[in-house]
This record gives sequence, structure tokens and C-alpha cells, in this order.
Amino acid sequence: MEVKSKDLWVFIETKEDGSPKKVGLELLNPGKDMAKKQGGALVAVVIGCSVDASVEAASRYGADTVIAVDGEEFKEYSTDAYTIAITKLVEKYGPTSMLIGATNNGRDLGPRIACRLHTGLTADCTALDIDEETGNVAWTRPAFGGNLMATIMCPEHRPQMGTVRPGVFKMAEPSDRKAEVIHEDISVPAEDIRTQVIELIRELDAETVDLEGAQIIVSGGRGVKGPEGFEPIRALAEALGGTVGASRAAVDSGWIPHAHQVGQTGKTVGPKLYIACGISGAIQHLAGMSSSDRIIAINKDPDAPIFGVADYGIVGDLFEVLPVLTDAIKKA
Ligand code: FAD
Repeated sequence: MEVKSKDLWVFIETKEDGSPKKVGLELLNPGKDMAKKQGGALVAVVIGCSVDASVEAASRYGADTVIAVDGEEFKEYSTDAYTIAITKLVEKYGPTSMLIGATNNGRDLGPRIACRLHTGLTADCTALDIDEETGNVAWTRPAFGGNLMATIMCPEHRPQMGTVRPGVFKMAEPSDRKAEVIHEDISVPAEDIRTQVIELIRELDAETVDLEGAQIIVSGGRGVKGPEGFEPIRALAEALGGTVGASRAAVDSGWIPHAHQVGQTGKTVGPKLYIACGISGAIQHLAGMSSSDRIIAINKDPDAPIFGVADYGIVGDLFEVLPVLTDAIKKA
């Protein structure tokens, strides 16, 4: 693809009501600095149906320019409609890099566009940087089961593309600044969209567990010893107005649904407070929670690796510690 600008694009995924998903706004934050280092503008690409709220949000959260594509065929995500629209835009404007949130849809869309444009894509990134000399994005992601972090560059092909996990970056403070808004009139004929949404069935628990947006998370691991072991975890979370998280060991044991899992194959979270109870601190768990503002660990084993990332540690039995903590918080 012909590069026509040094701009960095952030795809703003929208919900069915046209409002933005949080991850797109999060990515505008690192995008600002990256675009500057690349010597271009930060461009938000909004696609959906009735997208005014998303266009405005992209402007307030840091985009210099917003390119909007609005149409009924974009109300529900479809690989074909979105791929056709974004490919047309990329061919017209020729940006140098593109960030996409690693949501279910983003994980589907990113590789499809990369393939159409004959370029590379680094999936599921957890850190981003720019090599200022070459303008190459340094995409960092866990590799080999999370045992090492690989930094990948795409020196020869453009645009450089990557998907980035939700919750890795925090949104910037919103401002009153106004981005330039370009409305692109793109429509995709029904015969070009090979799939059709017949019915949306929402998984109840996945909808109600908002770990990525939670300010306080109390998580349980194998140390809770069974499904009933999550009761003191829930009690503390409730007393603090927090959300319940879990390690993969607890999820794989069937003690709590996957929607609660934090870590490399779960959610990436960044709450103000993360309380890890009976969690050893495996690297794959840390990958999802180590950017929390404050971490408290409760573990019987004083040598548990979780204490290495914790701001405060309590060495003790969670079944003794948690009720005392919960009572104290209720009384406070
Ligand atoms: P354990 O490692 O068994 O630790 C249990 C801890 O509880 C111990 O430290 C013990 O001292 C403590 N304990 C026991 N009883 C008590 C008590 N009564 N009071 C206080 N402490 C107690 N893991 C994730 O969490 N999230 C992921 O997304 C994830 N993705 C993965 C992806 C891949 C590709 C792989 C290979 C692994 C992944 N894992 C993930 C698994 C990870 O490697 C660990 O196996 C897992 O995190 C361990 O969970 P845990 O800490 O609950 O259990």
C-alpha cells in the first residue's frame, strides 16, 4: 500500500447504539504520543450507525482528526462490511500505522484488513512504543505462554498494524478541544456482506462482570479451595463496592465463570485497588493486573511471587484475614 501520510490511526469500535467502546478511547492516549514521534496526526476512525456520540468522544479524548463512516449496514459488526470500509479508507488516506482494540470484533477485523492490505499485524499487544529513527512501532506482546515478552517490528510493510488489549492503557482526561471531522460516504451493498446477524444472545454473566471498568477488584485463586471459597471474596468486594476477579486456576476448576478471569487469557485490568487472595502470582496472571494502581496480596506462603508486585502484603490464611478485613470496612 502506498503511504500518503505519517498519520497514526486508531479504530474506534462502536456499540449498536453508536456509542464508543472504551478501548478505542484508551488507545487515543498512547496514540497521541506515538503520532507525534512519527511526525503525523492522530486520526480516529469511527464506524457504526448513528455515531455522533463516538465522533464527539474521539474528539474530546485526543484525536486531531476524526474520520466517520455512518450507515445501517455498520450497526452490527460484520467482518465484510467493516473490512471493505476500512480498506477503502486506508487506500485513500495511506496512514503509516493503525491500532485496533483486541476485542472479539477487533481480533477478527485486524487480521482480515492486514491480509487485504498485504501487511503485518501484531496481535494482543500489551505495550507500544515508537523507534523514532525509523518510525517503526515497537509492538510488545506476551509470547511462549506468557513466559517472555516479545517486541515485534514491521519495518517493510505499511500500514503497521496491531491489536491492543482493552484495559492496558488508561483514557486521557477529556478536553473541550474540537477535532476536524471528515464524513466519508461509504456504503456496502447487502450482497457483499456474506453473514447476517439473526439473533443476539448475551451471556448474562459476561455482561454483568465489568472487570475492565472496575475501580476495585477482589480476586480469588486456587487458595480459595472451592466455589464456596469465593463467599468471603464476594463479601469483601461487596463491602468495598468492588468486582470479583479470579485466577485461571479457579476458573479452570469450575469454581467461577471465565468472565471473571484476570490475566493473559482473561481480562487485562487497571483498577485503583487490586486485592489478590490465594493467588500465587504466575506471570500469566501478572500480565493482566500488574498495572493496577495499588496491589494488596493475601497469601499463606511468604515466598509467593505475588508479593513481588504487591504494594502491601498480608502473610496469612485468607479465610481468617478476609472476614476481619470485611468487618473492619463495614464498621469504618
Ligand atoms: P496457584 O499457583 O496454585 O497458587 C495458589 C496460591 O494460593 C499459592 O500461592 C498458595 O500459597 C496460596 N494459598 C493456598 N491456600 C491459601 C489460604 N488458605 N490462604 C492464603 N493463601 C493460600 N493464569 C491466570 O490467572 N490468568 C490467565 O489469564 C492465565 N493465562 C494463562 C495462559 C497460558 C498460555 C498459560 C500456560 C497459563 C495461564 N495461566 C493464567 C495459568 C498460570 O500459569 C497459573 O497456573 C495460575 O495463574 C495459577 O493460579 P493460582 O495463583 O490461583 O494458583
